[in-house]
Amino acid sequence: MFDSTAEELPFLFAKAVQSLSNNPVEPVIVEDASAQQVTMEEVDLSKIPVPTLALKDDGPYFSNCVIIAKDPDTGVRNTSVHRLMVTGKNRLGLLMDVGRHLRDYYERAEAKGQSLEITINNGAHPAYYVAAITPSAAAPIDVDELGVASYLLGEPAKLCKSKTVDVEGIAEAQMIMEAEILPYVREPEGPFGEVSGYYATREDRWVVNIKSITMQKNPVIHMLHPGKEVWNSVGLGAEANLFQTISKQVKGLKKVYLSHGGSHYHAILQIDPPRNGMAKNAILAAFAVFPALQMVTAVNSDVNLYDAEDVERAMVTRCRPDKDIIIVPDCFGHELNPATDDGVGAKMGFDCTYPVPKSDRYEKVAFKEVDLNDYDIEY
Ligand code: MN
Repeated sequence: MFDSTAEELPFLFAKAVQSLSNNPVEPVIVEDASAQQVTMEEVDLSKIPVPTLALKDDGPYFSNCVIIAKDPDTGVRNTSVHRLMVTGKNRLGLLMDVGRHLRDYYERAEAKGQSLEITINNGAHPAYYVAAITPSAAAPIDVDELGVASYLLGEPAKLCKSKTVDVEGIAEAQMIMEAEILPYVREPEGPFGEVSGYYATREDRWVVNIKSITMQKNPVIHMLHPGKEVWNSVGLGAEANLFQTISKQVKGLKKVYLSHGGSHYHAILQIDPPRNGMAKNAILAAFAVFPALQMVTAVNSDVNLYDAEDVERAMVTRCRPDKDIIIVPDCFGHELNPATDDGVGAKMGFDCTYPVPKSDRYEKVAFKEVDLNDYDIEY
């Protein structure tokens, strides 16, 4: 794994994603996988410590399992993360959002009357998790995103053959559930406290039947808090993808940050636009690149985009409300955002960049750095 600072992380991730088109590294299948040291005699999820997370969640949830499946027509592997509610000893409720490759695979399998086989991998190396949350814009449906894991690991991702399904699991996961998503079956799933900070409603959704569970000798079951920790997954990939894609269209972009309070619906673009109006083009590009965004704020490079106070100051001093607020009604957004109707809602953009060229009025006050140790101070 590479050493990286938090600020560099989206760019490391972007390089890993680029490797999918430049130099994709295929996973290898290994024998004697540590994830298969122990096989549960009878599948029984009540024996696995799965937590109930939020007060009104309907039951225990796996929140960060990496699901692997194969395209029913081409055999290309897909790796993704989905919430899974424990509904029985060998049964899970599953959410597959619109546009997810797993759902695409499933719908084609279901149309043939078939279940979709999957492995559900818990507690794998974070590189696999990062691969699984690669945005589909960066890893189209004909691409195996496990190449991202290989890049980050510095060696091919390691998979193991399953015993009951024709899909591999992650060889060094803590636990693997070999399973199938059943055709024509829907059962109630939810409520679940989601990344938006609100509960996802209870509705009839997809159903997983678990055929076998294997694990390491003393497995440590991994969970993810479905709030800020989801930002770390969705946010990281989205920041990198936004940066790369917008940069191709608009010059002057420096950084992209999906703020924690924004629940991955708010992106802050740090940009010094070469010409007036271009910050707005960047804002519009951001909505196209990452449709979940509800709000985009553009600030100059003299604003610390990670500092909410600094961003707010730019908003009240550099955004002229009659000119610099963009509202686009009825766009496709994110189903989990209660400000949308079934995912459709307005987008808002705030251009908080100063006019080009920069006038003295926009020079921020600065102070000399002082080290008190340089002075003799008597108390
Ligand atoms: Mn995919």
